[in-house]
Amino acid sequence: MLIAGADGAVNARAAGAMMEPTMAVECTRCRQENPETARFCSRCHTPLRFTCPACGQAQSHGGTCDACGVDFLKYGLVHLGRMQVEAARERAREQHRHELFRQLALVPLTGGLSLFKYLRNRLRDR
Ligand SMILES: [Zn+2]
Ligand SMILES: [Zn+2]
Repeated sequence: MLIAGADGAVNARAAGAMMEPTMAVECTRCRQENPETARFCSRCHTPLRFTCPACGQAQSHGGTCDACGVDFLKYGLVHLGRMQVEAARERAREQHRHELFRQLALVPLTGGLSLFKYLRNRLRDR
């Protein structure tokens, strides 16, 4: 009797949780309530979930990211160009790094050479 009652309560609670999702997502366009897990509005198919292309933050509205403030549309527009710029910049950085290493590697060489010249000049002057 007691056990049956407890079971009933649990079942009712489980059914209730199934009936109404913990967090309904309201469509920004038509105000239709959709389950939290829905990616698109069941009525007008407006996307309900937006994932920030910059930081991966998932949120129920577009526009700007709640986490990092990135403008989704702007980011989307510049993203392709930025990828190319990033790639070019990365290449340049790589070249610069190589150049830097080359210069660093040459320092003892040129330094030694100038030191040698300096010493030779001093010897010649004497
Ligand atoms: Zn809608
Ligand atoms: Zn973000």
